[in-house]
Amino acid sequence: MTDRLYYHDSFLYNFDAAVESASETPRPALILDRTAFYPTSGGQLHDTGWITSGSDKLRVTEVADTEDGKVVHYVEALKPLAPGIRVHGEIDSTRRRDHMQQHSAQHVLSAAFVRLHNLHTVSFHMADDYCSIDLDTSALTKEQIESAERLANEVILENRPVDVRYVDREEATTLGLRKVPTTERDQLRLIDVRDFDLSACGGTHVSRTGQIGCILLRKAEKVRQGWRVEFVAGLRAVSTARRDFTTLTETAALFSAHIYDVPQQARKSLDEIRSLRKQREEVQDDLAQAQAATLLAETPETNGRKLIVRTFSDRDLNATKLLAQKLTRLSPNAVALLATTSPQQSLIFAQSPGQPFDMGALMKEVMAKLGGRGGGSKDLAQGGVPASAPLGEILEDLKQMLSKDKE
Ligand SMILES: [Zn+2]
Repeated sequence: MTDRLYYHDSFLYNFDAAVESASETPRPALILDRTAFYPTSGGQLHDTGWITSGSDKLRVTEVADTEDGKVVHYVEALKPLAPGIRVHGEIDSTRRRDHMQQHSAQHVLSAAFVRLHNLHTVSFHMADDYCSIDLDTSALTKEQIESAERLANEVILENRPVDVRYVDREEATTLGLRKVPTTERDQLRLIDVRDFDLSACGGTHVSRTGQIGCILLRKAEKVRQGWRVEFVAGLRAVSTARRDFTTLTETAALFSAHIYDVPQQARKSLDEIRSLRKQREEVQDDLAQAQAATLLAETPETNGRKLIVRTFSDRDLNATKLLAQKLTRLSPNAVALLATTSPQQSLIFAQSPGQPFDMGALMKEVMAKLGGRGGGSKDLAQGGVPASAPLGEILEDLKQMLSKDKE
């Protein structure tokens, strides 16, 4: 078993050790007789750092537990290190301090949820940019979140000692631990946030709550096993708040508003967009109606029907379709073969109810010929054609064909 120095001192960033074994496969890895490197476990991420031997400096990129109780250090590249060689280990202290802040914050926050609302933490997750706890509950209110955040920060401000002590399993059952450990070990390592929280944990923690700095609760969402609450602590809280503020400031500048007025301004803008969209639809409808009337007036009857053939570059498929509908509603004997080139080449075929053609079938025929996709009903059909398709020619051919058809 590796002697785990972090159990006794979370602030030990430098240590000396001897190489126990070194291997190249599957990844370059070192096992030492003792280490201050923390392996990923209990929700806390592993440390990184360096292991040096003479002039060789190896970058430690990942640290993990082995099944037989050893700690394995994965390094970028392995130099020949025989068992017994003395090495020096150096932990990336910025990363470790951040992990201690997040992990200790989790103890305090989980205890705050229990004390205030009797909500128990069932799991803890630490990611590179935020952490989260899952609470065993079917409901979580904004008030519960804010009061737990408040209490946790008060405990931080009180700068309470965080002690580590070891007790045997039997004694532990009498102490009222928040978190009942699942391991079979006889000795339990307890983390004692003075008069606030007592739980068994093998992680690295601050020595006083003030070192956590602060806790900021973020997103809360319903998950399968309860409610997930995201949080950031210490300098992460500061950098997260800074990023939020920058985002909000940029948004406020777009509205020329104070940051606190952004929601109100955004709501106002959305209302305006909705209203303008409605107005635009009404105007488009009126315009289509007027254009349809003009087109019908301009078009002479041939074989008892008005055949309207047009290609538009300034109206999209929906506007073209609207025009086709107006044409066939305003006149009892209209047949419209319309095309638009904006933004893609599309066709709309329509006829007044009772006219003899089959627009859906006609569209399918054209699509088969041009390699497009489309179809529709007997009176209205639409389709998209490749940009290379000669729209003018197609429409002219169809016009000739339908003009000849007396029935
Ligand atoms: Zn812990």
